[in-house]
Amino acid sequence: MNGSAGLKVPVNDLRRHWQSTQSVVQPAVERVLASGRYVLGDEVAGFEAAFAAYCGASHCIGVGNGTDALELALRALDVGPGDEVATVANAGMYASAAILAIGARPRFVDVELESLNMDPAALAAVLGGGIRAVIVTHLYGRLADMERLLPVAAAHDLPVIEDCAQAHGACRDGRMAGRWGTVGCYSFYPTKNLGALGDGGALVTDAAVLAERIAALRQYGWGEKYRAGLPGGRNSRLDELQAAVLAAKLPLLDDWNQRRRSLAGRYREALSASSLQLPPAPDRADAVHLYVVRSAVRNQLRAALARRGIATEIHYPIPDHRQHAVLQSTNAEADLPVTEQAAREVLTLPCFTDMTETELDAVVGAVEESLSEIGDRRE
Ligand SMILES: *Cc1c(COP(=O)(O)O)cnc(C)c1O
Repeated sequence: MNGSAGLKVPVNDLRRHWQSTQSVVQPAVERVLASGRYVLGDEVAGFEAAFAAYCGASHCIGVGNGTDALELALRALDVGPGDEVATVANAGMYASAAILAIGARPRFVDVELESLNMDPAALAAVLGGGIRAVIVTHLYGRLADMERLLPVAAAHDLPVIEDCAQAHGACRDGRMAGRWGTVGCYSFYPTKNLGALGDGGALVTDAAVLAERIAALRQYGWGEKYRAGLPGGRNSRLDELQAAVLAAKLPLLDDWNQRRRSLAGRYREALSASSLQLPPAPDRADAVHLYVVRSAVRNQLRAALARRGIATEIHYPIPDHRQHAVLQSTNAEADLPVTEQAAREVLTLPCFTDMTETELDAVVGAVEESLSEIGDRRE
């Protein structure tokens, strides 16, 4: 191709992200270091208010990480041992881990091939019986089909927990991720669209009683200090440093997501004639956390790209229903043909906020070369 051939491209580059955010993040960090208060103080309260406002929610509760957010949501909704929770099996085990942690069992629902998000018809087919809640993941940053999923859950009076860990800022018809179901769960792991400098998470909801329960459960079940009203309490707090970092970065999130969408748009244009199955065109419902294509020759393509210096990832190689941790605690037979196909075919191409156009051109060039090379071999 052009001058971009031979360039090494990573899947993400957090050092570059630090360099581009240092001027706003470092003063926030130093303010906290000097403050003498490090856990659940004004910085956390300030970020919770800012993130609630950003999402358009009445309440935001900061917690230790995204998996804890899911677990605390389940606990706050009184889901417990012996209950079942409907969820997908292609979203990296996070929801399943939270479900297993409270002694409940995942009930897996297949996904739609185009979006790789939960299939409403498949959800309708499993509901009833012991299922007490539904966890819907907005995978790769794309809002799931909430317009069709919510009525299915409502017909069985089930709360819907949204896993928004990949979907900060995703929005459809003015409604943000986390604002469709009963409660939305976020992770601020460093690689997320809004990332901390360590672990962090949050829940958003309009339900005041639920918010109060979650706030108690994140800190030993305390209603007030040293008075534990709720059983099942944990220690899962957001710390002041992470809250200050997140508050400093939040105003930049929309521009970063716009950048991600623009990179995805360029991929779409450049690769539309290739043999790859591309994700749907990115609109505001898509925060493009990951740019994930599908290919029948995924493993060969990945190896060929690696030889050309292009890093890729597989999100995710092992569906939850095939994980040992799940098989040990549930022998539920799951018939998930689309999930299985996705695990064989998905490939994540580099797409991150600080990525350059030259890097994107290098990836495109390497994909084209690799596909033609593989094509040659297959003949
Ligand atoms: C990252 C992630 C989580 C877990 O967040 P942690 O903060 O790492 O616990 C949950 N769900 C999805 C879809 C994620 O991508």
